[in-house]
Amino acid sequence: MNKIDIKSMTKEEIEEDIVSLGLPKFRASQIHRALFSRLITDFHEMTDISSSLADKLCERYEICAPKIVSKLVSKLDGTEKYLLALSDGNIIETVLMRYEHGNSVCVSTQVGCKMGCAFCASTKNGFVRGLEPSEILAEIETVTREHKDDKEPFRVSNIVLMGIGEPLDNFDNVVKFLHLVNDEGGLGIGYRHISLSTCGLVPGILRLAKEELPITLSISLHAPNDKIRDSMMPVNHKYNIEKLLSACREYQRICGRRISFEYALISGVNDSPDNARELASRLKGIMCHVNLIPVNSIREKNFKKSTKNDIILFTNTLKNCKINATVRRKLGSDIDAACGQLRNDHINK
Ligand code: SAH
Repeated sequence: MNKIDIKSMTKEEIEEDIVSLGLPKFRASQIHRALFSRLITDFHEMTDISSSLADKLCERYEICAPKIVSKLVSKLDGTEKYLLALSDGNIIETVLMRYEHGNSVCVSTQVGCKMGCAFCASTKNGFVRGLEPSEILAEIETVTREHKDDKEPFRVSNIVLMGIGEPLDNFDNVVKFLHLVNDEGGLGIGYRHISLSTCGLVPGILRLAKEELPITLSISLHAPNDKIRDSMMPVNHKYNIEKLLSACREYQRICGRRISFEYALISGVNDSPDNARELASRLKGIMCHVNLIPVNSIREKNFKKSTKNDIILFTNTLKNCKINATVRRKLGSDIDAACGQLRNDHINK
């Protein structure tokens, strides 16, 4: 019999299952605290239960705890990139970014991706499956465990769902993960410190709006018009920019939160001042921020970063049109591997 994935369960769900075994309710609280706050990976680490109860729990439940296959640490800024092996052998990537305002973890939400964006490494080896809530949570927990002996107490304060995969293509598991990671009895990371990035699955955006979670919605726009967006992002054939931006307006109407637009600057493709003006006119009326990212060239595709001058010109053109825009600072350039690239290297070996 397959074991129960206990780390995908809420405290109430654990309670219900524990009580159904004829155990008292307070056991569920002990177990929940040990799993989600102390981050044990084996029930035998619990000192407040008998070893025969630990045996019984081990038989019934699986505690999701991926193995670290490799870990790269940037000498420049402390960025850490992890390759993690899941219990079925699949490999995912997780990144820790260290900012003055706190530690931010970038999590994968799927094994591979089926969205097919031309510039993105995550999609090159196809799609395998969505991650379970426990597996997304385990990415943050694994990083936290790695720092348990740090001199300064270590805490993850921000999460970005910007690793491998399309979060809204794994909707239920991602929303459950958001609840689990926010739980006060667990990592307790505030929704306002979580950003979810999507390539633009319109039905998913509208469904997410109904959840009314105060997270930041980040849209991978990357183009000011359908002609350019069609050429790079297959999702645009189904949900074009007009449909996407109208979903964003609806999201904003319901959630009241500023929307963040990601825009990878690619030399000669989408980085002219005209492109910037067109972008500004499309975004008019949406309370937003544009994140400009000089594109990371991946081996499989020949996209070139915009020049410094073009980046400055693009940014200033947006600002003159009253659009908030900043260029994203690049971290971990000495351990460079555009998102998904490490995993590809591992698979191709
Ligand atoms: N599927 C989601 C989240 C994962 S990608 C999404 O599409 O938003 C996280 C961000 O990195 C997205 O904005 C994506 O478009 C961007 N990205 C992917 N490959 C990139 C590259 N080579 N250079 C710059 N940004 C890239």
